[in-house]
Order: sequence, then structure tokens, then C-alpha cells
Amino acid sequence: MIPATFDYVRPSTLGEAAAALAEAGEDAKVLAGGQSLLPLLRLRLAYPSVLVDLGRVAELRGIEDRGDRLHIGAMTTHDEVVNSPLVNEHCPLLARATATVADPAIRHRGTFGGSLSHADPAGDLPSVALALDAEFRLASAAGERTVPAADFFADYLTTALEPDEILTGVSVPKLGPDWGCHYEKFHRTAQAWAIVGVAAAVRHSGGAVVEARIALTNMGATPVRAHAVESALAGVPLNGSGAGVREAALRADEGTNPPSDADAGADYRRHLAKVLTRRAVIAATSG
Ligand SMILES: Cc1cc2nc3c(=O)[nH]c(=O)nc-3n(C[C@H](O)[C@H](O)[C@H](O)COP(=O)(O)OP(=O)(O)OC[C@H]3O[C@@H](n4cnc5c(N)ncnc54)[C@H](O)[C@@H]3O)c2cc1C
Repeated sequence: MIPATFDYVRPSTLGEAAAALAEAGEDAKVLAGGQSLLPLLRLRLAYPSVLVDLGRVAELRGIEDRGDRLHIGAMTTHDEVVNSPLVNEHCPLLARATATVADPAIRHRGTFGGSLSHADPAGDLPSVALALDAEFRLASAAGERTVPAADFFADYLTTALEPDEILTGVSVPKLGPDWGCHYEKFHRTAQAWAIVGVAAAVRHSGGAVVEARIALTNMGATPVRAHAVESALAGVPLNGSGAGVREAALRADEGTNPPSDADAGADYRRHLAKVLTRRAVIAATSG
């Protein structure tokens, strides 16, 4: 398929990119790695009048240590996230989840910011950002603002980004050595999208859970924070029969609205959410 005609702009700075978006109006689209947008253009499910390519905006790329948080530029590729020593040391949940995204070719082109801006409910990174209470930095010609993850994902493929805004980067908290984490993904074949995924970060001490952050992939139009599981896990012992973790995980489908599609029915997804949450918490707190 051939995309509809569009103008193409390739700025070198964030300021130029924001100005190009402001000038183009609501019909413009930002191009990052193109792994999701180009198929949409080719199928004519998207037909922007202007494409603003961020590929040369160097200031949007890279991972920085900012004290108790890491800042990840929006144009940082999945491969760079997976192989970042900073991410692996301070936020291994993100590195592990990103390693499950698609295949190496897509991970070399696709970007962290592109995945979050696209906000596919089956995407692996939105639920990780939600579990980590990530903060999203948005910029336009009019200025900058910060949006918490809980407010960023608004609906199916819809975020808090206004048409003239660019996601410049995301900051995530560093998790100390008392945190364990795991991303449990159930997919039909290796390198495929999640049928259901669970992002789990669990702080534990003295053989019991102190605090848990759990978020679910593909259990609704947006990623879903499993607050009921988080509350139920507080204080649960981690040695012994595992009954406490099992009981808590049974609440994983509370507040979800999973889709039924060719891969799985909603009931099966509810079942998966419980099983995968149990596995994710056990893996996060083992070893
Ligand atoms: C075959 C295949 C398998 C895949 N499997 C998985 C998978 O298992 N798990 C998974 O999570 N993902 C998967 N993906 C998606 C992949 O992660 C993409 O990289 C990602 O969804 C989009 O990133 P991108 O940089 O290519 O963004 P693009 O395709 O360039 O853009 C996507 C959307 O985000 C907007 N956008 C991008 N960057 C910004 C920004 N900085 N500010 C504002 N708006 C922006 C664009 O305008 C567009 O609407 C798969 C993709 C393919 C093609």
C-alpha cells in the first residue's frame, strides 16, 4: 500500500520540531522509529498532512542519571534501553520488559517514546511506566509540562499528548536493592505482542512484602494498575506455602475490562491475569 501524500520535515532541534508542529496544525504527526506509524500510513488508517521526523533531534536521545531517578529520552531505542547499564542497575523491570518487545530489528528502530505515545494496550512498556509511577515530559512551542503516568494513558491509542506536543522523555524512580522485579508476558509465539502481561516491582524485607507495584498489559483500553493486588500483598509472607501471594493474585482482574479477540476471550484474559500476577510476584521476590 502507498501512503497518502504528506509534507516531510526533518528538524535538528526540539525547538525546530515544536515550531514545525505548531505551524502544521492538528493534521501533523511526529515520526519516531516508524514501526507503528508507517504501517498505519501505508494502510491509510492515518493520513497526516505533515510528518515531523525526530530522527535527527539528538537532545531527545539517551539515558541520564538524575539522582534518585533516571531520565530516558523519547528517541532512545528499545535496544539502547535493553543494553543500558544504568537501566539494568537501577530499573531492571524496564530492561526486562523491553527485551520482550518484538524482535531485534524492531528493537533497533522502535523507540521508548514512540511506544508510550502510541499507547497500544498490548504494548509492554505502558504498563511498566504505570507500575513505576513514571513522569512524562511533554513540550510544545508554548512550553513544557509534566504528566504522571496515571494521567498519561487516556484511552485506546490515546494519551494526554495534544496534537502540537512532543514527548521529550520519561523519568522513572531508581529502585534500591530491596526491590525485586519481573515482567511476565504471555504470548502466542516468541517475539509476539502480549495476550496479557504483568509488570511487577515488589519491595520486600525480612521475608515479607513491604510494598508492591503491579500493572497489567492488555487488560483494558489502557494499561491497568492492579491496586487490589497491591493492597492485598502488603505484609504477606514470602516463605512458606505461598498462599498469601496466591490469594492476592486472585484479585488481579478487579477493575479491568479485557478485550475478546482472535487470541483470547475476556474470561481467559481474566484467568491469565491472576496466574501471571502470581508468577510475576514470585519471580520478583525470588533470588
Ligand atoms: C511486527 C511488530 C511487532 C511488535 N511487537 C511489539 C511487542 O511485542 N511489544 C511492544 O510493546 N511493541 C511491539 N511493537 C511496537 C514497537 O514497540 C514500536 O517500536 C512502537 O510501538 C512504536 O515506536 P516507534 O518509535 O516506532 O514510533 P512510531 O511508529 O514512529 O510512532 C508511533 C506513534 O507515536 C507517535 N510518537 C512517536 N514518538 C513521539 C514523541 N516523541 N512525541 C509524540 N508523539 C510521538 C507518532 O506520531 C505515532 O502516532 C511491534 C511492532 C511491530 C511492527
